[in-house]
Amino acid sequence: MAPHIQDQVYKSSLEDPETFWNHQADQLNWHKSPAKAFQKTTKTLKNGITHDHWNWFPGGKISTTYNCVDRHVLNGNGDAIAIIWDSPVTGLKEQYTYKQLLDEVETLAGVLREEGVKKGEVVLIYMPMIPSALFAMLAIARLGAIHAVVFGGFSPSSLAQRMEASRPKAIMTASCGIEGSKGPMGYKRLIEDAIKKSSFKPDKVIIWQREQLRWDPVKKEDGERNWQRLVKSARNRGLKAAAVPVKSSDGLYIIYTRTTGLPKGVVREAGGHAVGLNFSIKYMFGIHGPGDVMFTASDIGWVVGHSYIVYAPLLAGATTVLFEGKPVGTPDASTFWRIIEEYKVNTMFTAPTALRAIRREDGDNDYFEQIFGNRGGLRSLRALFLAGERSEPAIVQMYQKLLAKHCAGGAVVIDNWWSSESGSPISGIALSAEAGKDFNSKHRHAPLPIKPGSAGKAMPGFDVRVVDDDGKELPLGSMGNIVMAIPLAPTAFTTLWEDEDRFYRGYLKRFNGKWIDTGDAGMIDEEGYISIMSRSDDIINVAAHRFSTGAIEQAVTSHPDIAECAVVGIPDSLKGHLPFAFVTLSTHHHPHPAVPDERLFREVQKLVREQIGPIASLGGMIQGKGMIPKTRSGKTLRRVLRELAENATHNEFEKAVQVPTTIEDADVVEVARAKIKEYFMHKGKDLHKAPEARAKAKL
Ligand code: AMP
Repeated sequence: MAPHIQDQVYKSSLEDPETFWNHQADQLNWHKSPAKAFQKTTKTLKNGITHDHWNWFPGGKISTTYNCVDRHVLNGNGDAIAIIWDSPVTGLKEQYTYKQLLDEVETLAGVLREEGVKKGEVVLIYMPMIPSALFAMLAIARLGAIHAVVFGGFSPSSLAQRMEASRPKAIMTASCGIEGSKGPMGYKRLIEDAIKKSSFKPDKVIIWQREQLRWDPVKKEDGERNWQRLVKSARNRGLKAAAVPVKSSDGLYIIYTRTTGLPKGVVREAGGHAVGLNFSIKYMFGIHGPGDVMFTASDIGWVVGHSYIVYAPLLAGATTVLFEGKPVGTPDASTFWRIIEEYKVNTMFTAPTALRAIRREDGDNDYFEQIFGNRGGLRSLRALFLAGERSEPAIVQMYQKLLAKHCAGGAVVIDNWWSSESGSPISGIALSAEAGKDFNSKHRHAPLPIKPGSAGKAMPGFDVRVVDDDGKELPLGSMGNIVMAIPLAPTAFTTLWEDEDRFYRGYLKRFNGKWIDTGDAGMIDEEGYISIMSRSDDIINVAAHRFSTGAIEQAVTSHPDIAECAVVGIPDSLKGHLPFAFVTLSTHHHPHPAVPDERLFREVQKLVREQIGPIASLGGMIQGKGMIPKTRSGKTLRRVLRELAENATHNEFEKAVQVPTTIEDADVVEVARAKIKEYFMHKGKDLHKAPEARAKAKL
């Protein structure tokens, strides 16, 4: 049997990257064509270490904004809708055609140029999910400057750290953000505090005034400027800025990513980013151009937002839905579906944590069925993409069923794995794999089958391998460290902002420059499907057997009463560590004490034993609501739970734990602490008993 087209495309991308990526580069407008697609180079660090490096599209000059906006207007698609803004938190909705978007962006770029922003300089964006945030990103890029978007709502100290690291010429912000149903949160104090804390001071703060809460007063003497007034004045004078092309290797943006120490600035290069994203949106996400609608429910502060709210849909000339709201509470768990129906969305992208939040509110889809059950309004939806965290099979299957019943024929749920560093999915299932061969093909083929629990197969340009701790490749089906060979695909980073040493230390050193370390652990099966099971440092060592938190969580969540779960390792005198589960039950089973009832624990334990093996038996299970801490981007903070649980095994219930500043809600840590205390007061003594006694106590 001939290999599936996705496998053929992948193979050709690795065998002949030059032809493959040149073909993709030809789909864009270059101010100067690149000499070639790919060039391997080396870099030498200050300490004399030399390592392999690579460049995409050397010699080329490009403007990302021109390709995202001007190109479509010049091609006669100016009246197509570029952006739909839907904001349940304000009750507002707006739409912008490509023509209107061009007008906004070239005027704002004119303003920024007048305010002193030059090519190569950094401008920091700290904004809520409103259209002007997208105008800002595109206007900065239009000048050949570099944006650093920081999630609106991050604390002044997180913001100050990012300010110090990126040294922005200006900050573009708004008077307030609106966090779900919590109402407006003023940004004035946050920004002013951050500037006070940072040793680097930006020249200007440009403020978008929102009606819900104004920034008052705007202190001109401190460099503060009223955004709308500047734009108005520019319009009156007909001030506009043309697109400034930059070298392929010049930075388009910096994005700061997860780290325990100082923020790590991933640099996205202009050429590779534009080519790789324009490819991926068509090939993988099935969004080809005008008439196609993409809804990415994320935030522009994260890489998913950069790529699939902003750049990729606009590169394709499609419509992007910008959503200012939450999966639940704005006003309820039907919001995502309402948007899909209202705007005839074709591809939706979100994080599994959003679906879990919906499931907690509407576990049996009763409410969903009440509203959408019979009216067939969701038939436009062809796929639901999930990324950011592992999607457990239970959640994939639940939504796959829902899509099969209510959405387009053949609609699929697609788990895809990637990172800030990669810029686009490293693995997944391509919805329109023909787009890899015949670029403009709209033909729908059957995608590769989905395997729930797997994040699909490697995407073109990403050479993914599984290795042991010495960097030796492991046979298919073995769990190990997931690494990638050089080069990475064009959307991926090639360095960290002004810190090549840290790039080497963080990604190359572990395997002596041979592989790029992703920090993730998992496996690749015989058919090439990749499963990401946990971060490498979340692996639990039980009696010399290594288990991933993801595998155990998968077994626990296969119990129908469990809506959400986080597993961590707790110290055990005999086995080194034991897996310990934190679970949230589906709505109809609360209120619940920290200690689960015997029956539930026995059933869950049975599932773990059956699906993983008796050696992975849980050392305990705590149940509770609102006790699993998450980052603002929805990632479970297992490390915090691990520290709390570990302290509890020494009876140190109140001991301070390291909580990252990126936590969504710090109160959750205290709920977890109280739950752990309640649990250990009841059960803790048993944890230290000999295994036989522990078995008897049926912990
Ligand atoms: P970030 O750079 O903040 O986007 O985080 C990237 C990390 O999120 C990856 O290295 C993974 O640990 C995790 N991640 C993202 N997508 C997935 C996925 N589909 N399955 C499992 N883990 C994921």
